[in-house]
Amino acid sequence: MNIAVPRASRSGAAPVAVSFEFFPPKTSEMEEALWQSIQRLAPLQPHFVSVTYGAGGTTRQRTHSTVARILEETQLRPAAHLTCIGASRVEIDEVVQDYWDLGVRHIVALRGDPPAGVGAKYEPHPDGYRTSADLVAGIKRIGDFEITVSAYPEKHPEATSFDQDIDALKAKIDAGATRAITQFFFENDCYLRYLDQVRARGIDIPIVPGLVPVQNFKQTASFATKTGASVPAWLAARFEGLEDDPATRRLVAAAVAAEQALDLVDRGVRDFHFYTMNKADLVFAICHLLGLRAQPAQKAA
Ligand code: FAD
Repeated sequence: MNIAVPRASRSGAAPVAVSFEFFPPKTSEMEEALWQSIQRLAPLQPHFVSVTYGAGGTTRQRTHSTVARILEETQLRPAAHLTCIGASRVEIDEVVQDYWDLGVRHIVALRGDPPAGVGAKYEPHPDGYRTSADLVAGIKRIGDFEITVSAYPEKHPEATSFDQDIDALKAKIDAGATRAITQFFFENDCYLRYLDQVRARGIDIPIVPGLVPVQNFKQTASFATKTGASVPAWLAARFEGLEDDPATRRLVAAAVAAEQALDLVDRGVRDFHFYTMNKADLVFAICHLLGLRAQPAQKAA
């Protein structure tokens, strides 16, 4: 019989830190759902919560008002996502200055995808920031923001090699980024191999794994294909035949997400970023398994 080595995820001696990502709501019903999720997850005292910026810069106003409401009505520390797409430097600088004036001190800076969608050719705005590294430098010129950027354990689809991809990450760090959040992935080995490659290049900032609880397998698989994240056959097999069985699907989704997160804890990971899709239940359950418990409201340290 093989005796398993002690697991950090069971010892209770492995405190973790989490952050949660939300998207700005389009309708009043979606807004209600978002606020219910924020209120459910807030007592877990995330390190920060981030609010995405719609493709092509389409949610500039909604991202801003969601971030403003988080600041005004909660003890949470919001990070606003911002991309280079569809706006001049002057316009982007105004958005950044507005955030500074509002009291926001953390930006997730991205290049963004072309308005025609993921995979279309990227053309910078003629008067805009050309790359995400340029954007990071521009933000830093306006205020001493904390800046988080993206990282791609399976390589960004447009990067010609892992080396080029890691060069791009390095350029963002040289410009002032101090944390990266990864694109979601399902094979933990992929993330840990990537981490080795990044560390071997002398990059020592936190590379926080971005985890997506699979609320809807078909939707996640289709999104994954576009972003270059692979969907392993074993994952598809776990959801196979459950299309008309939402109750079992939810249980399987929880089991799959718990397995991934706890395995990462066993392998030394302590920081997690959750793509919540504005839904709290599954994320709350995983955080509970990670050892987090609801705390009375107070500003996270
Ligand atoms: P970058 O870091 O700028 O580049 C990624 C890779 O692509 C690098 O390897 C770089 O070398 C390569 N590359 C970039 N441009 C070229 C080019 N022209 N030719 C060759 N190679 C190139 N999108 C949104 O619209 N709104 C969001 O709120 C948002 N949030 C995100 C949060 C996270 C944590 C992540 C991982 C992604 C997010 N995205 C968001 C998606 C992101 O905008 C896209 O993946 C986009 O395609 C790349 O932007 P980036 O800043 O991640 O890429």
